[in-house]
Amino acid sequence: MSLEQLALDIQHCTRCGLAQGRNKVVFGMGNPAARMMLIGEGPGKDEDEQGLPFVGRAGQLLDRILAAIDLTRREVYIANVVKCRPPNNRVPTRAEAQACLPYLYRQIELIKPAIIVLLGSTALTNLIGPEARITKMRGQWLESRSGIKIMPTYHPAAVLRDPNKRRPVWEDFQKIQEEYLRLTGKIARE
Ligand code: SF4
Repeated sequence: MSLEQLALDIQHCTRCGLAQGRNKVVFGMGNPAARMMLIGEGPGKDEDEQGLPFVGRAGQLLDRILAAIDLTRREVYIANVVKCRPPNNRVPTRAEAQACLPYLYRQIELIKPAIIVLLGSTALTNLIGPEARITKMRGQWLESRSGIKIMPTYHPAAVLRDPNKRRPVWEDFQKIQEEYLRLTGKIARE
């Protein structure tokens, strides 16, 4: 199954209760052959209206972060743990995340990224384990069984709420850039 087919298949998904309040399923966007995937929590109001991930203020910050490491959202692939907006932007429940994660895992299988950036606690706890803490694990490389390098960092929305998180996020993305350039065979900037 291709990424396009998968996107079409989940447009009418009712596997969890989030189906009831959504306007649009937010499948993901970017390069289907991206070497880097960024995974956030779930759609917010703007994303739910447009059907695209990270298009609100947090998304604009993510674009600036990517630009700072010489990337655009067309080169990477952006997705979320849940594809439908939780009411009032609450954190998705474990059951909602578990219902939706098979789609994300299929996206990862199809895209085959070399690097996955986990944006925030929801992505970290659902992909790594419920005991994982973003404050302790951000900035450190993990590796999946299939050899994908995984970097947890703060969600851009958390950076907007707390400017003290800007520096750690910048440091994390410098590490990400270094690894990205190494894995893609490009030369790091001086
Ligand atoms: S959040 Fe995921 S599992 Fe739940 S209805 Fe939407 S697409 Fe289906």
